[in-house]
Amino acid sequence: MTVTTSYPRRPTRQIMVGDVPVGGGAPVTVQSMTITKTADVEGTLAQIYALAGAGADIVRCTCNEVEAAEGLARIVPRSPVPIVADIHFQYRLALAALEAGVHCLRLNPGNIRKPEHIKAVATEAKDRGVPIRIGVNAGSLDPDIEARLGVTPEALVESATRELAYFQEVGFDDVKISVKASNVPLMVEAYRMLADTVDHPLHLGVTEAGPPPGGLVKATAGIATLLLEGIGDTLRYSLTADPVEEARAGRQLLEALGLRERKGVDLIACPSCGRAEVDVIKVASEAQAALAERELPIQVAVMGCVVNGPGEARSADLGIAAGRHRGHLFIRGEVVRVVPEDEMVAALVEEAERLVKEGVEARLAARDDSAAAEAAADRAALLDQQGLDANRSEQRVELIRKRTGG
Ligand code: SF4
Repeated sequence: MTVTTSYPRRPTRQIMVGDVPVGGGAPVTVQSMTITKTADVEGTLAQIYALAGAGADIVRCTCNEVEAAEGLARIVPRSPVPIVADIHFQYRLALAALEAGVHCLRLNPGNIRKPEHIKAVATEAKDRGVPIRIGVNAGSLDPDIEARLGVTPEALVESATRELAYFQEVGFDDVKISVKASNVPLMVEAYRMLADTVDHPLHLGVTEAGPPPGGLVKATAGIATLLLEGIGDTLRYSLTADPVEEARAGRQLLEALGLRERKGVDLIACPSCGRAEVDVIKVASEAQAALAERELPIQVAVMGCVVNGPGEARSADLGIAAGRHRGHLFIRGEVVRVVPEDEMVAALVEEAERLVKEGVEARLAARDDSAAAEAAADRAALLDQQGLDANRSEQRVELIRKRTGG
């Protein structure tokens, strides 16, 4: 059964980051950040292209020195996606990034604190029609706010609203806001409070989440919780990893929640058990690597045995199940072809391509006539050999009883 849920999104105003709308009913977007020196124009552009290919809609680059701002002037016209300049401490670098033509600035209110500097940047951004993200971070809060309120949701929200008030003094509110923390409950509470306070689009993230898999779990816990409440208009996974993984994770989360149309393969696989006829982990990893960068918006299953595989994964568009050294390729639960075990992944990839190009009906019509009978024979032989209790649980229970005199 397929359950489709649409989560009511929190209404917000909309801003434009280059040609990408954020908030106001626009699709939730994925962001990531380059880890190259921004002055290295070719290296940074190569990474931006890789991030865009992995699903990033918007990319942020640090602007931490004059050479970085000069790099941005050369990067922006050649970038496939809008560029955000990340600014800390030096408001003059924000002005330089605007001069470079960036599509958005990110300012940290915890480390650019002089009102006249904040207002100078907001005035120039307003004149150029460039939005700003107020990027509050629990680790770099304004000291006077932290002294008064501690590191709390209230402190994060106050830091954001204070910055917003400076912007409003110069008539600028083309703004999105983030209130990130590495502590998930703190971050979730801060965003909820902020969502009740302002109508600006929100940029979600769990900052310094760390390396995968722990970092992925933390970031997903925070970001997904809020998205399911309708909060959040753009997001970034902050992982200690190749940023391509950040972009991929963001995209996959949105696809899994049904918030973005599926672009890539949704690979499902059984966890394996005593019935498995193949190393499921190895085959699934190989299939994942082979299918990762292809734009095939289908669900593909890798199943360890033909006894239960095609049936358990019948909702998948396509799948392969192992049995008696062969791979049983199935479409929507119907076995269409039987291939040698060492050709399982290649056959899966080839069929995935054809399925997307030709459609389910055409590929079912092109099935190998003997496949279903061969699969049934393999299934019967395995059942005969393994019995219904392939994990030998009952045998083990008998042995335990004998040993314990039960
Ligand atoms: S019964 Fe077959 S498909 Fe199910 S977990 Fe075991 S090996 Fe995988």
